[in-house]
Amino acid sequence: MKKREKLAIIHSWYPNAITTIDSVNKIIDFVEYDLDLEPKQVMLADSVCSDDVNSIQYPARTQEFLGPFKMGGLDGFPFTGLTGMGAFASHVPDNGAVFIYYGPHVGITKDGTLGEIHRFGQSKNSGCCGAAKGALAKLVNNQIKAGNVSELDYQMNTIEQILFNEKERVLNAPAPLFTATEVIYEAIDKRINELVDKTNYTCKYVILVGAILVNSDSDMGSFTEIRRFDVIDLTTKKRQNNIERFNQHS
Ligand SMILES: [Zn+2]
Repeated sequence: MKKREKLAIIHSWYPNAITTIDSVNKIIDFVEYDLDLEPKQVMLADSVCSDDVNSIQYPARTQEFLGPFKMGGLDGFPFTGLTGMGAFASHVPDNGAVFIYYGPHVGITKDGTLGEIHRFGQSKNSGCCGAAKGALAKLVNNQIKAGNVSELDYQMNTIEQILFNEKERVLNAPAPLFTATEVIYEAIDKRINELVDKTNYTCKYVILVGAILVNSDSDMGSFTEIRRFDVIDLTTKKRQNNIERFNQHS
């Protein structure tokens, strides 16, 4: 299948999505041309779901960066918290940058079904993101209790609480999994920005790329709809929003 045919399927849900490979190419160009840095001066951290599909579909060219430091747990929530943020902040080259890519993921099959993908060697499709779908099923069945976060299933319970806090919005939505994914994105974006505010960096820039990561069938690859593309200049503390140029289709 050609790239434009794959994108046409993904665009039925996420009209601004590009292939994740193209997003990495754009970010590397931005780092080189706009920030005048080499990728090896950039420490990549990602906050994406620990689902194995995200390792299988991880773009090879990200190896030009240092890292990745893995912040994510279930559905990309930054479970490594302040300690994780502080750890890779102290590993970055002095004149370099920290680049944080974060967001929830969701599957879209070749026939456009949201919340599923076809994985290598399996005869049937499976859920993606399984954690988001599991939490949504519990929300629908009234099985989530306010404040219930257990040690045994801490990450899952946290995702459940995020959806529980927006219960009406999710349950009344025309496509509850789509809206649940939006709600989880908003929670991750908020938390990442809180963590960044509370962290000391010794480098020049912090690059924040927030996105919905769309996985598809094993022969389709993955896609990215960028929601935030901010660069914080740590010398001036100014934040520059670059989202418009990122979403220019090329
Ligand atoms: Zn997942």
